[in-house]
Amino acid sequence: MDGEALKLRTQLARPDVSAEEAKRVLSVEYDLSGALTELGSQQDRNYRVDTEDGRFVLKICRMEYARVELEAQNAALHHLGATAGAPKVPAVIPARNGEDIVVAIVRDVPYQFRLLTYLDGTPLTRRKHLPAQTVAELGDLAGRLASALKGLDHPGLERELQWDLQRAGPVALQLLQTMTDVDLRKRVAEAMVAAMRRVQPLMPELRVQAIHQDVTDDNVVSRVEGGRLVPEGVIDFGDVLKGWLVAELAVTCASLLHHADGDPFFILPAVQAFHAAFPLTDVELEALWPLIVARAGILVASTEQQLEIDPDNAYVRGNAAHEREILDVALSVPFALMEQAIRRTVGKGAAPTVPLTAGRLLPDIEPSRVGIVDLSLLGPHLPADRWHYEDTEALLLQSAARAAGTSATRYGEFRLTETRLLQARSPATFALHVDLCLHGQTAVHAPFAGHLGRRGDKMVLSTDGLHLHLHGIEQAAEGAIEAGAPIGVVSGDPPALGFIRVQLSTEAEIDPPPFATASQAEAWRALCPSPAQMLGFDCDAPLPAAGELLQRRQRHFARPQKNYYRQPPQIERGWKEHLFDVEGRAYLDMVNNVTIVGHGHPRLSAAVGRQWSLLNTNSRFHYASVAEFSERLAELAPDGLDTVFLVNSGSEANDLAIRLAWAHSGARHILSLLEAYHGWTVASDAVSTSIADNPQALTTRPDWVHPVVSPNTYRGPFRGEGSTVDYVRAVTEKLEELDENRVGLAGFICEAVYGNAGGIPLPPGYLQAVYAMVRKRGGVCIADEVQVGYGRLGHYFWGFEEQGVVPDIITVAKGMGNGHPLGAVITRREIAEALEKEGYFFSSSGGSPVSSVVGLTVLDILHDEALQENARTVGDHLKARLQALGERFPLVGAVHGMGLYLGVEFVRDRETLEPATQETAAICNRLLELGVIMQPTGDHLNVLKIKPPLCLSRESADFFAEMLGRVLEEGW
Ligand code: PMP
Repeated sequence: MDGEALKLRTQLARPDVSAEEAKRVLSVEYDLSGALTELGSQQDRNYRVDTEDGRFVLKICRMEYARVELEAQNAALHHLGATAGAPKVPAVIPARNGEDIVVAIVRDVPYQFRLLTYLDGTPLTRRKHLPAQTVAELGDLAGRLASALKGLDHPGLERELQWDLQRAGPVALQLLQTMTDVDLRKRVAEAMVAAMRRVQPLMPELRVQAIHQDVTDDNVVSRVEGGRLVPEGVIDFGDVLKGWLVAELAVTCASLLHHADGDPFFILPAVQAFHAAFPLTDVELEALWPLIVARAGILVASTEQQLEIDPDNAYVRGNAAHEREILDVALSVPFALMEQAIRRTVGKGAAPTVPLTAGRLLPDIEPSRVGIVDLSLLGPHLPADRWHYEDTEALLLQSAARAAGTSATRYGEFRLTETRLLQARSPATFALHVDLCLHGQTAVHAPFAGHLGRRGDKMVLSTDGLHLHLHGIEQAAEGAIEAGAPIGVVSGDPPALGFIRVQLSTEAEIDPPPFATASQAEAWRALCPSPAQMLGFDCDAPLPAAGELLQRRQRHFARPQKNYYRQPPQIERGWKEHLFDVEGRAYLDMVNNVTIVGHGHPRLSAAVGRQWSLLNTNSRFHYASVAEFSERLAELAPDGLDTVFLVNSGSEANDLAIRLAWAHSGARHILSLLEAYHGWTVASDAVSTSIADNPQALTTRPDWVHPVVSPNTYRGPFRGEGSTVDYVRAVTEKLEELDENRVGLAGFICEAVYGNAGGIPLPPGYLQAVYAMVRKRGGVCIADEVQVGYGRLGHYFWGFEEQGVVPDIITVAKGMGNGHPLGAVITRREIAEALEKEGYFFSSSGGSPVSSVVGLTVLDILHDEALQENARTVGDHLKARLQALGERFPLVGAVHGMGLYLGVEFVRDRETLEPATQETAAICNRLLELGVIMQPTGDHLNVLKIKPPLCLSRESADFFAEMLGRVLEEGW
């Protein structure tokens, strides 16, 4: 290319025009006045102009830049403004003389001026993370832009521009010469050579048309919709030219790599969406990734050079770090992998074609006798936390080999043994190889003819398009090898067992990793096919199909029974406060209010297993566990509450409690709190008015239910601790109304800590006052302890202790069974016996031997592992960390609750308390990506429901606080 032209472009400082000077030009040439704010630019000087008639951008450009090119930019803006389906773009405002470009002189220097409308919106640049949906929308925007620009022609589009990827090779050569950082120069040079080598043969077939060539996070403006950024407009047409169509997408993808958190696969939704808006050819798809790498290389080199010319340009300096990151991510994976992934994402991925191999690698072993070791989530050899130990894989392989002679792991298996707890990124768990354990000195033969060479501590047998990597063999013969010829033996002297690792690769240059992450598994699978054929036995693990399973669930599992998340991970295992999906991803379970002693507790599963093997029947039989469990529950309750009913759920317990209140009082009417949830059975649902659970709740109450305003001291009508009197007055008024109507009161039901709203304590003294008024009228007081009881609050075993009251009836469920269907009603003898008037009470599996053993074992574990104490210390620590986040982020309106019953409430405004509902949903979705299970709660779904297993470790609590802090910092 013309070196002079390139020099002009990259080595000129920006126009030296102050805001005052620009104002004068604006007034003379455009008859406009307003406030000017400088906007960043690499080569021009741009000012935002705020006037009474709207916002504009004044663009000032040196005379050295050809006018025809500025005309081309204006032509593109006019063209797009008139094309249906094109993204929004700025409009060109003519000067007083009717021209779109005017030349004005500032301190004896002439410059070219243009005025455009300012496209309002938020750039994506500052968002460290972008959701996949936004990434896709950006790809779609670039695709629609390219599609609209297709019909544009202008002489000014024939440009020589360093950003034109058609010129990437020569531009890079020139830029590299000026780079002073030797290491960086070497990296960029190598990247450019590798990229251009792949692009070169494709060049003749790459389509050329008008392109914007800079659709990046900086130049795309978005509207905010439901707390989320939706890209809708494009600015800065400074690089518009006739270039490769695919370069339009390459530039967008390169800019996305800076938001990718190290994962280049992050760009794929953009590729898919661009392709849907403007389909690319196979050749263009092949050129895409090398062009992304080339763009990254040129960005880095150009910025280095720019900084040398204009070291004070803060805009350029700020970009340098981003661009290095883009290059790092672009170089973090082999070209072949990304090319494969790109093809797959647009539905063009072909099954890997593995050349048929002539023979077996280990002809001396008997394939039908190989012991296959299953290291997946459901692996039978991985009870309890066995997966957690470092040497588990080797130990299991060895013991299987001792039994069968030879043992092998499975190819294409997501191994639980490779998972890691508390990780923001998904670990690499997908096995791209097979490990075998067999007798030392077993002969290893070449399954195909090729060249055998040493690579590090491996031997690699290579032929065209197939490379066999072998680890753990000795006496290897190097050089040309015939198919079937011996190539070495398994290391180790008999009778000792030896290990070998077998891995295939279709690419010569790459050193394939042993494991891939789930998101990269499919692409790696194509590059590292299964060695099953040359091993002679089936060692391929079936692939999980979570999506298909979800469809099956939706086909037959009734719709009102919702699932968490739109694309839920398939969770099949748990351990303490951790959950694992079928791809071996570990999640921190922060919502599980049921599993109080943790998941997969060996003591509980052993006790249940044993009881199932002995007996399970109904409570009309006489057996020890039901007597012991009832006794233990009565001991835990306050004096006088010594009588227990055992049922199967919280709903059933509350239903029974209401019936007890009716039977004991002889009256019918029940006082309840608005916004509460007590269950789904007819009676427990009748007293539930949480609109998040039932949007019609307020208009469909039966006449015996009398809800009163919920004493929410944060966002209710009366706020703060001093609001007790006001809330009590609301109850008094309601009761007086009932008195006037001569309505008999059967009782009052409420949670002692306000659960639905995220664990807000009731105002001090509230229950004392309300209980007294209810009792005065002959009603009984029911404390729903289904969520808050059983030690979750840390500071108290029962929630009502916090209010200093003793109820007449306690209902319990959830945690008491750790997920097993178990509920209880604990009350005074005379209340229980009132039910006798109506007959007897029977619940088939309530208090069964298995249920009672579960209940007893949970209580033992709670005691022996001091879980209430843990809820207190870890809960207090976590609350303090969450409160600290509240000081940094205005979105955090309040941190409610105590112990391990906490709620973080998000608001858009701390004065109006406008609930940040969409933000809360986005935060929960992002937390899932970072390995945390979290869900919104509350009537506005703007509260994080923090109710983890009570065994939550301090380290896990810290991880949660860190991840939440990270999400809040990233934006959503
Ligand atoms: N009461 C409260 C306070 C609850 O939170 C729930 C369940 N969310 C229930 C009762 C009903 O319990 P179950 O789902 O076991 O029927």
